[in-house]
Amino acid sequence: MGLRNTESIHYQSSPEDLVEDTLRIGEGILTDTGALSIRTGAFTGRSPKDKFTVKDASTESSVDWNEFNLPIDEKYFHVIHKKIMEYLDEQPELWVRDCYACADPRYRVNIRVVTEKPWTNLFAYNMFLRPKEEELDDFKPEWHVISAPGLKLDAATCGTRQHNAAIVSFKHKTILIAGSGYTGETKKGIFTILNYILPHEKNVLSMHCSANMGENGDTAIFFGLSGTGKTTLSADPKRKLIGDDEHGWTDDNIFNFEGGCYAKLIGLTEDKEPEIFHAIRPGAIVENVRFFEGTNKINFDDGSITENTRVSYPLDFISNAQEPSIGSIPKNIFFLTSDAFGVLPPISKLSPGQAMYQFISGYTAKVAGTEVGIKEPKPTFSACFGAPFLPLHPGQYAKMLGKKMQQHKVNIWMINTGWTGGPYGVGNRMKLSFTRAMITAALEEKLDNVEMTMDPVFGVAIPKEVPGVPTEILTPKNTWSDKAAYDEKASYLAGLFVKNFEQYASGVNEEIRSAAPKV
Ligand code: ATP
Ligand code: MN
Repeated sequence: MGLRNTESIHYQSSPEDLVEDTLRIGEGILTDTGALSIRTGAFTGRSPKDKFTVKDASTESSVDWNEFNLPIDEKYFHVIHKKIMEYLDEQPELWVRDCYACADPRYRVNIRVVTEKPWTNLFAYNMFLRPKEEELDDFKPEWHVISAPGLKLDAATCGTRQHNAAIVSFKHKTILIAGSGYTGETKKGIFTILNYILPHEKNVLSMHCSANMGENGDTAIFFGLSGTGKTTLSADPKRKLIGDDEHGWTDDNIFNFEGGCYAKLIGLTEDKEPEIFHAIRPGAIVENVRFFEGTNKINFDDGSITENTRVSYPLDFISNAQEPSIGSIPKNIFFLTSDAFGVLPPISKLSPGQAMYQFISGYTAKVAGTEVGIKEPKPTFSACFGAPFLPLHPGQYAKMLGKKMQQHKVNIWMINTGWTGGPYGVGNRMKLSFTRAMITAALEEKLDNVEMTMDPVFGVAIPKEVPGVPTEILTPKNTWSDKAAYDEKASYLAGLFVKNFEQYASGVNEEIRSAAPKV
């Protein structure tokens, strides 16, 4: 790669060595349970406005150029690439890791990650799939991820917005990350390229979802934007975890892209999220947390560095992880949304038309943390529950999902993990134990013969009873003291849906269009 001056290049270091290297250079501390605690620097979340895709002959007409797919000229890719390599060449040491994405061997993508920081390398070890020793001899990297958080770009000569950027080139099969140490950029960089390669070249649907599997091998997947509960709800002691964030759906299976989990730590308790709590041990990296004064014990309630405190760990830190991370065709799909208006029902069943409508809409409230600048919940529509990571037009993913849902007669549920009893500021977040009970009831087929009522605004079917859940919370309006205020908010949200859908309405059929909420 043209690195000549770097004194030490650590190749394929063990997690223990990477922890030691991080401690040695003074960039980490061990927590009381032996996990590595680090700070990612000025960036504690992704920076979508600084993510660029090289516009060239191959991407010009295939990529859906929009606010998330910002074009950059190839000449700048070369400028930045050169800058990064020169910068890395000046470092006394570097860390290189060979790994791969996609648990299904038919779709495996080999990746070489080159990092300025040992802890970024450990993140790659935790999050991507780990080749066996014997596979390394003839390992051919297909994609490169090059991470230089310490390099500040000169925006004027680099064609970027500011000093930091993540640049994807499909032609050069390279992701360049400069000026940001947020580890999630590497993970979501690879997710972005898979969201192009798999549907565009391999006829595999790529999805921003978690997945788990019951004792009988029945698979469930959970779509949702950041903070809606993909990681939390897929870690279910009664089911095997397939993966917590990114999956592909082929003609005969679903498979995880990754080899690890990246879970939020804010407000974590052993009681509510035991699986994640116990994964915080040697090898895991915790990011941007603070300790209780005078201890190395994490204060999970302290969001003073960021609300987006995180832990990354290999999938097998979860006791019941499925290995390899492959599952059968899903029997149930959950669309998770965190509705800060508190008007969507906590569980509802969707018709095929409603399912497509909701998938294309991708509604949630963005919660503080994962993205720079989000301080309180803000209603967002993000197509396919993942617009920031989708290089192709949302219609392409939606079409593939629609076909698969129909072909396999999948049950589709919408779960509101957000507010109940009123909007943000008045009501409360739905109790996690209730959400879990609702999902369990759906998975155990306990809602198949329950009477349903139709939500007058959103048209979705609400079960009249769910085992383990107080009946009155199933219909959101019942939980509001001010019924008129509920109607007003519900109608307001319906209006937002309709307005957002205008851009898609002409591209879908009547069945989907008529699934719109009633304003
Ligand atoms: P990302 O894409 O950023 O990884 P995610 O969809 O995986 O996001 P989680 O990490 O699961 O989201 O975050 C959900 C957060 O909301 C957790 O901190 C969880 O404790 C909290 N939470 C509170 N109430 C609920 C609920 N009823 N259901 C799910 N999560 C809840
Ligand atoms: Mn997650």
